[in-house]
Amino acid sequence: MTVKVTFAGSGDAFGSGGRHSTCILVEAPDICFAIDFGTSSVIALKALEIPHNNIDVILLTHLHGDHCGGVSSLLMDAMLGAKRQTPITIAGPRGTKAHLPTVQEVLFPGSGGMKPKFAVDVIDMDVLTPHDIEGLRVTTYPAIHTEATNPTSMRIEVDGKTIAYTGDSAWTEHIPNVARDADLFISECYFHEKRVPFHMNYPDLTEHADELTAKRTVLTHMGPEMLAAQERVKEECAFDGMVIELEDQA
Ligand SMILES: [Zn+2]
Ligand SMILES: [Zn+2]
Repeated sequence: MTVKVTFAGSGDAFGSGGRHSTCILVEAPDICFAIDFGTSSVIALKALEIPHNNIDVILLTHLHGDHCGGVSSLLMDAMLGAKRQTPITIAGPRGTKAHLPTVQEVLFPGSGGMKPKFAVDVIDMDVLTPHDIEGLRVTTYPAIHTEATNPTSMRIEVDGKTIAYTGDSAWTEHIPNVARDADLFISECYFHEKRVPFHMNYPDLTEHADELTAKRTVLTHMGPEMLAAQERVKEECAFDGMVIELEDQA
């Protein structure tokens, strides 16, 4: 069985390279889910002609807008335009349940009184605890990023495949465990030579290469300096619309 991963949005917080904010769509035989859902995710999915009504679960790594700011647009469109009928589960770090309605009321004042015709289940996930979310096994790990965003890295098991993602984070002692033997390890990589705090930069990855045992690695969330250097690195670099199919090993 194939698990299809589509980078609908592979950009950073500021649209560098004209890219959409983070939205990684995963289609497995029995479930469709998004890993992060940044501000422009509804636009990104529509550009790829992927109906967001297909999404059963949204997993959020942290509360920055370029990773969760598109949820309110999805919910508004699901109520008003896309006429969603099926339930949706949104699981994120501690504080997600309180944060999402606040964001929605800021972006769409007065929308809080609207009652969707579908169930919306929002879950705050504890770190270092496996959660069963609609058949996905999701474990989050503490990340080093803006503290107020409750940042996490994430490891997801779906249909016998493992997808690991750093979220936005500087290198942490947990990242080798997040990525261990994963079928796909998605690492943010903000800068190529310069090192900035609270983010993974290319030197962090090369220095820790022998600790990373994933079968395939893709870099994302690249800023302008990293985008300019991507031809010079050996790792695969994501782009908006990139598709990766994780096949069963023969
Ligand atoms: Zn970000
Ligand atoms: Zn962030």
